[in-house]
Amino acid sequence: MSELRVGAHTSIAGGVSNAVDEQLEYGGNCGQIFTHSPQVWDHGTIDDEEADAFRAESDANDVGPWMIHASYLVNLCTPKEDLRAKSVDSMQQELAAAAELGIPYVNVHLGAHTGAGVEGGLANAGDALDELDVPDGVTITIESDAGSGTKLGGQFEHLAGVQAETDHDLAFCVDTAHVWAAGYDISTPEGVADTFAEFDDVVGLDQLVYVHLNDSKHGCGTNKDEHAHVGEGEIGVGGMRAFIDRSVEEGLPMALETPTENGKSFAWNIERVHELHEGE
Ligand SMILES: [Zn+2]
Ligand SMILES: [Zn+2]
Repeated sequence: MSELRVGAHTSIAGGVSNAVDEQLEYGGNCGQIFTHSPQVWDHGTIDDEEADAFRAESDANDVGPWMIHASYLVNLCTPKEDLRAKSVDSMQQELAAAAELGIPYVNVHLGAHTGAGVEGGLANAGDALDELDVPDGVTITIESDAGSGTKLGGQFEHLAGVQAETDHDLAFCVDTAHVWAAGYDISTPEGVADTFAEFDDVVGLDQLVYVHLNDSKHGCGTNKDEHAHVGEGEIGVGGMRAFIDRSVEEGLPMALETPTENGKSFAWNIERVHELHEGE
């Protein structure tokens, strides 16, 4: 039986190695970080000693795999040349940071095509990805999107589509709140099984490497992206439990991006994941 890997999106405030301490406090054994504020382009630098400490502490405590989440400003699908250039530059810096930190995945959304159309947007994303120099040991993962406006990645066909447009071997991260918002009904064990089967059919389960585990405050197919505590949103206990069980079965690590509200923390949500998996 595969081991349950679950952790939280953790802060690197005060130094990147602090993310490991924070993860351990939550009871997590994998997780995600931003390398800098995701709302700005400026990357700053990662201190070499801090990077060494992050690797050493992650190894010593068996915390991993980690994932870097790229900036929210990155838009791979954009038809605008300046935005595309900034996006490529930002992604190249994330890839360098991942290599330095020993992090295997840099996770990014496809972005919005803003008028280029689905096929045009996917072609733009493929071209942007092909400009990147991906270091050994690092893989770009494309995250499934809630699919609002002209954002791509809501449909599994978009994920398969960008793979067809780039020479890189991509991997994928499914966010439960996003697939739900995009119209995949994962609120029941049958719905979870069907969604995994559809992903396998359209993209290929061998390319699915990570799960963002979030419940949702909105209904299926609304394209609204607002995360809820595990089992307390519209996906609910039955769907979340089935998704957790299947993820463990497939050996997929899970990162939580749940809110911190109503007195419930990441620690509460990690505990909840364990309880649901153990059938409580
Ligand atoms: Zn994301
Ligand atoms: Zn996510």
